[in-house]
Amino acid sequence: MSRPHVVVVGGGIVGSAVARRLTLSEPRPEVTLVEREPEPARHQTSRNSGVVHAGIYYAPGSAKATLSREGVRRLKHYCSERGLPYQEVGKLVVALDETEEARLRDVEARARANGVPGLRWVDAPALRDVEPHAVGRAALHSPTTAITDFSLVAAAMLDDARSGGAEVVTGFEVRALDRRGEGVHVGAADGRTLRADHVVIAGGLYADRLAVLAGDGPDPAIVPFRGEYHRLAPSAAHLVRGLVYPVPDPRYPFLGVHLTKRVDGSVLLGPNAVLATAREGYTKRDVDLQVLRELAASGGFRRLARANVRTGVHEVRGSLSRRTFVARARRYVPAIADSDVLPAGSGVRAQAMDPDGSLVEDFRFSRVGPVFCIRNAPSPAATASLAIADRVVSELGLG
Ligand SMILES: Cc1cc2nc3c(=O)[nH]c(=O)nc-3n(C[C@H](O)[C@H](O)[C@H](O)COP(=O)(O)OP(=O)(O)OC[C@H]3O[C@@H](n4cnc5c(N)ncnc54)[C@H](O)[C@@H]3O)c2cc1C
Repeated sequence: MSRPHVVVVGGGIVGSAVARRLTLSEPRPEVTLVEREPEPARHQTSRNSGVVHAGIYYAPGSAKATLSREGVRRLKHYCSERGLPYQEVGKLVVALDETEEARLRDVEARARANGVPGLRWVDAPALRDVEPHAVGRAALHSPTTAITDFSLVAAAMLDDARSGGAEVVTGFEVRALDRRGEGVHVGAADGRTLRADHVVIAGGLYADRLAVLAGDGPDPAIVPFRGEYHRLAPSAAHLVRGLVYPVPDPRYPFLGVHLTKRVDGSVLLGPNAVLATAREGYTKRDVDLQVLRELAASGGFRRLARANVRTGVHEVRGSLSRRTFVARARRYVPAIADSDVLPAGSGVRAQAMDPDGSLVEDFRFSRVGPVFCIRNAPSPAATASLAIADRVVSELGLG
């Protein structure tokens, strides 16, 4: 009997992890990964904070909670096996006042329920033992939260997939997913086609449009949120040893401007979260009229915008003014001077929204016949990628 052919759409870290995992299955299917860019992993996978999230924030029992915990275990082992950077620099989630302290107690309860190892509640003096330049009323310390370089991790996964027999085709922009009989015809913008028995959509910022091509519904739709970064000048990088985060706002899926050590020793400030006017809108100048039309026509988006006017204004102010942005970071590390801060890059999050305007909190998967769609895989999907790949392959019955 011939082997089933699986086409994975998208060469970011999630698609690469799925392709790699498929080549480890017994019996091994035929695997093709298609990526529309000339190289894989140009988008979210190479434009993020590089934090291996320990599973602190997520609702116990959710896919984010279970797959991030499993993902951390797997990723730590994988990085060590493949000689990839993995540094347990530790994270402080810092409460600045009494109200935040009460919210941080809820975060602590979630983290403990999720089995995050080594957690400690620290008071102001103990906080400074961990991060000598940070201030706060109290903090939650997660010593095992780590940093890595997800673009290197994704490249290693894709190398493994190739060595395991997968074919990787770049410059293949999927424009058609026609279900015919038992299989799927995968059509590219330039007219090439592939026949697949199964398709896995790991298209990040285009996950919703790809799912619709396969006959899935339009919801949840992707709303692109740009995250803008600054970085500390090398002379100020000593002000941060590891990761310093605010207490997250429970109404919002983003974590707030934080300070992040990178594996190259540099320190990032950010990202904020502003609506992007293009799916890959890395600067304020990137505007895609189709995205604007889709958002304007979406009742869900209007509800989302109405419910988050204050947060939206707060984020836009931080985006327009570097001083405001830096002042927010200085609340946690007061020694940072305006002159210590330089502009850095940005990333755009693929955040799904339900028709009622609520942002989808958990990872979301759907299936139409032989097509498996990863419809919401924002942070911590890079952390969880190896565990997400196991889930996908098992759901396809190809494990
Ligand atoms: C600012 C920011 C900070 C983040 N910080 C962290 C963090 O610290 N830790 C963490 O775990 N996660 C973090 N994340 C989230 C993480 O980066 C993503 O969850 C993860 O990279 C998603 O991977 P992906 O493969 O699904 O998407 P992507 O990396 O976006 O890959 C999708 C791929 O699909 C391709 N594609 C799209 N359409 C088509 C088509 N029609 N045909 C063929 N190919 C197509 C794209 O070109 C792209 O290469 C962050 C994200 C952002 C944006």
